[in-house]
Amino acid sequence: MSKFLQKNSSYLNQNSQLFGNEIILELDESFSGNLSSFQNQICNCHNCPLGQTRTNFVFGEGDPNAELLIVGEAPGEKEDLEGRPFVGRSGQLLDKILLAINRNRQKGTYICNIIKCRPPSNRNPNREEIDQCLPFLKHQINLVKPKLIVALGLVAAKNLLNLESSLKDLRGKVHSFNNVPLIVTYHPAFLLRSPGFKKEAWVDFQKIRDFLKD
Ligand code: SF4
Repeated sequence: MSKFLQKNSSYLNQNSQLFGNEIILELDESFSGNLSSFQNQICNCHNCPLGQTRTNFVFGEGDPNAELLIVGEAPGEKEDLEGRPFVGRSGQLLDKILLAINRNRQKGTYICNIIKCRPPSNRNPNREEIDQCLPFLKHQINLVKPKLIVALGLVAAKNLLNLESSLKDLRGKVHSFNNVPLIVTYHPAFLLRSPGFKKEAWVDFQKIRDFLKD
């Protein structure tokens, strides 16, 4: 564990139990001021049990000045092995969708997840894991300063928005996270399993494209 995390881990845990995520944001001042040094600060994190089971920490990647920041659920098997977000078939589909709105991982887009380590057997992340990891995502968003966040799938959407709703109810609206507009759409892994929903996803991504034009 890094000196930074050793110093702050018990404080994070104690305040998370007492006050939830909000108070942890005070620690933003201790976090680093650019993405690569922030990554170095937290890459050995063991604040939740996933630090013991991961192969690689998956920080996120893309344009550090992106207008569009995409947030998925959690690293899967391939992401855990490679230490990169959205690799494998769902990542390839995401890359195709981004290309269709004239974007890619190097151009105008940053990609990450609500948590940075893979849950065993790709189960959904639990509340403790999300509470421990979300302050890292919030700081990442503060550093990138995107114009728009896109949440991919229900797990990312409901944990970012703190809402118990269906994906159907969350789509088609502009929400807000960390004072940044947020749009919800389908996760590419779901689109691979249910290709009939690709048309609806394309409607969402056209809205995303148009939002970023304004
Ligand atoms: S999931 Fe997040 S909080 Fe848990 S060990 Fe990984 S980086 Fe730390």
